[in-house]
Amino acid sequence: ISLKGFKSFPDRTRLEFTPGVSVVVGPNGSGKSNITDAVLWAMGEQSPLAVRGQSMQDVIFGGGKGVQARSAAEVELVLDNADGAVDLPLGEISILRRLDRSGEGEYRLNGARCRLVDILEVLSDTGLGKESHSVVSQGRVEAIVTSKPRDRRLLIEEAAGLGKHRKRRRRAQLKLERTQDNLDRALDIEREA
Ligand code: ATP
Repeated sequence: ISLKGFKSFPDRTRLEFTPGVSVVVGPNGSGKSNITDAVLWAMGEQSPLAVRGQSMQDVIFGGGKGVQARSAAEVELVLDNADGAVDLPLGEISILRRLDRSGEGEYRLNGARCRLVDILEVLSDTGLGKESHSVVSQGRVEAIVTSKPRDRRLLIEEAAGLGKHRKRRRRAQLKLERTQDNLDRALDIEREA
């Protein structure tokens, strides 16, 4: 993970996560949760609340301890794709999100500008992503344990990788509906003619 201007990380900060378990240790308020916020955010989180802000611009370093506020926040996640989990001919997948104070933002996939849906599509192959429960924040564990069976089922299905197919089916259905509308309109015009 590489962070710059994101929350409590004004200067470029690189964190390397090797295989196995990594633990981030530090005093209260030192920015540990900001790191998981950065992961969620780079993966396309749209709700400021989910990254503990009021507005999305709250993720931009706001100044402090003699360091000036930054004009933009940037987080890059680099995923090792040696095992080909993501169906792209790339050994490493880089996902970058940037946002400036005017609200102008962008996403990049291995350096090329792309749409949020491209990022979500890539992530759905990895078991990561904001809806795959790969990031469980403080207090959420209890919510999962005490959730209704129906909600828990959704969660398990998502973790098992069904969510991606559900989303594809939904997109295909919407496309079919749009096509049907177009066809109806074309038939109307034909009848008129
Ligand atoms: P705890 O152990 O209490 O959960 P933590 O190590 O997880 O703490 P975080 O919640 O990640 O800490 O970090 C909070 C810190 O991040 C606060 O000091 C807050 O001032 C700082 N912070 C958050 N957003 C910004 C921002 N936009 N600009 C500057 N600092 C920020």
